[in-house]
Amino acid sequence: MNYIIFAIISLTSFISAQLVLFLIFNRNKIHLKGFLGLICAVFLYSLFYLFEILAPSLSWMKLFASVQYIGILSIPAFWVIMSLQYTNKGKYINKYLYTALFVLPVFLVLLNITNDHHHLFYLNYSADIINNLSIAEIEPGLGYRISMGYINVCFFIGNFFYLHFYFKGSKVYKKRSLIILATSFIPWTGYWIYMLKLIPIKIDFVPIFLAILSLVYTCAIFRSNIFETTVIARSFVFDNIAESIFVLDENNQIIDMNRKAEETFDIKSVLVFSKKIEEIFQDNPLFIKQLCNEAAVKFECEMQIKNSIRYFKCEVTPIHCRENKGKVVVLSENTEQVLLIKKLEYYGTTDLLTGVYNRNYFYKIAKEKVDFSKDSKLISIIMMDLDLFKVVNDTYGHSAGDLILKKVMRTCLATLGPEAYIGRYGGEEFILLLEGVMEDEAMQIAEGLRVQIEQLKINYNNEIIHITSSFGVYSGTDQNLESMIQFADKALYEAKKTGRNKVVSAKAIMSNSTYFKN
Ligand code: GH3
Ligand code: MG
Ligand code: MG
Repeated sequence: MNYIIFAIISLTSFISAQLVLFLIFNRNKIHLKGFLGLICAVFLYSLFYLFEILAPSLSWMKLFASVQYIGILSIPAFWVIMSLQYTNKGKYINKYLYTALFVLPVFLVLLNITNDHHHLFYLNYSADIINNLSIAEIEPGLGYRISMGYINVCFFIGNFFYLHFYFKGSKVYKKRSLIILATSFIPWTGYWIYMLKLIPIKIDFVPIFLAILSLVYTCAIFRSNIFETTVIARSFVFDNIAESIFVLDENNQIIDMNRKAEETFDIKSVLVFSKKIEEIFQDNPLFIKQLCNEAAVKFECEMQIKNSIRYFKCEVTPIHCRENKGKVVVLSENTEQVLLIKKLEYYGTTDLLTGVYNRNYFYKIAKEKVDFSKDSKLISIIMMDLDLFKVVNDTYGHSAGDLILKKVMRTCLATLGPEAYIGRYGGEEFILLLEGVMEDEAMQIAEGLRVQIEQLKINYNNEIIHITSSFGVYSGTDQNLESMIQFADKALYEAKKTGRNKVVSAKAIMSNSTYFKN
């Protein structure tokens, strides 16, 4: 029996040596952190255990046992590193982690080498010769017990990561976590069978279990791609990319999604797998409509997430892979940019005091409507000016004047509706554009505004201020904005000249009469 075990241990060091060489030659393809260290440690352990049982004397045995411990105590440390890498926690692998994991093993190995001077590792270390093999008989000391504790704690931590990843991670990682998780129990089982002396064999057979582990990993490398960098890198990128990604099947059921999508839309992937995207995004019917529109490959969308509105660029890529059909939906958020653009647009087009269009923007849209309209549409231009505003400013102060301007424009917007074209022409003078409105109607609208402004009671510091306004109206199909404004301005001037607080029609001045005289 001992010879068989001896042969298997020889085989273990042979296999692990092969694996070490294979990993070094294929270092670009295989994810190495932890894994290479683990296999090197297995090799060291098995080889020096082999030397230990073949050693010619007790002092040689002790020496080989010490070197062996470098391997034994490195296995758990590398197990933790490997588990971090294979569960996408690679960012935690740094020199501090290595230091933390290897401080204790280095100390314990030193304790082992110098055991004869203090007996802190083994209380007693002697040799038993069985079938020509030197089998160590040990009485565990404090160092030995700490070593065993360290091994178990590290395996526990590593396996906890795999378990957590298996239950919380995306479907794509499940196979990998499960395989590595399952394999971890191979050496652990061997370790406990040996430690609890469940088999009455004195020789340390843990390396045999490690050999099985090495064999499983060898097969995994050749037959499955669980250790391949490309697969792991792809999964890593999928989860750490800045865009939210949903993978849908041909029935629009979610079959995968990345971590960013979980965070952005506040949904747990495990809860939505196999659910239809329509169900998950039922608050955003427009997005679903765009998504289901076969023609739309790229589109911008506005989404309500919880109580806020957010903006996304969406790109849909169809999947046509043999029998698999579906689509990949990539959503990149651009809420900040959209809000910034909206803000800039607002500043560029709006008069900040009154909320109506500023002069430049009013001119731009008015020119499009008047000068560049293909058919000569009937357009009315109304010029409006507050009466004796300088006096109001001088009497009540500039801030009272500002308040009046705001209130007057709020009244105009409320009367004409938010779609009305009102611009601040300058100071307390405003310009209005009405489309398809006959002159009589335009005069009535201006008169309506005049009356409303006249009736306003503006409360400023408990003083009620009244204000009046004058209007000049011109309607025509001229297709020349400047001349239309000039006509309306003339009518306004006439209104001022003839007593203010009235509406004057440009055409009426031409025929020397005024409408709506106060
Ligand atoms: P008229 O009836 O002939 O139009 O007399 P008016 O006093 O309204 O006209 P005038 O052009 O002499 O004065 C306009 C005043 O409007 C002068 C200026 O201080 C005031 N004004 C212009 N823009 C603003 C503003 O944004 N806020 C305030 N408070 N006052 C303004
Ligand atoms: Mg004025
Ligand atoms: Mg003025």
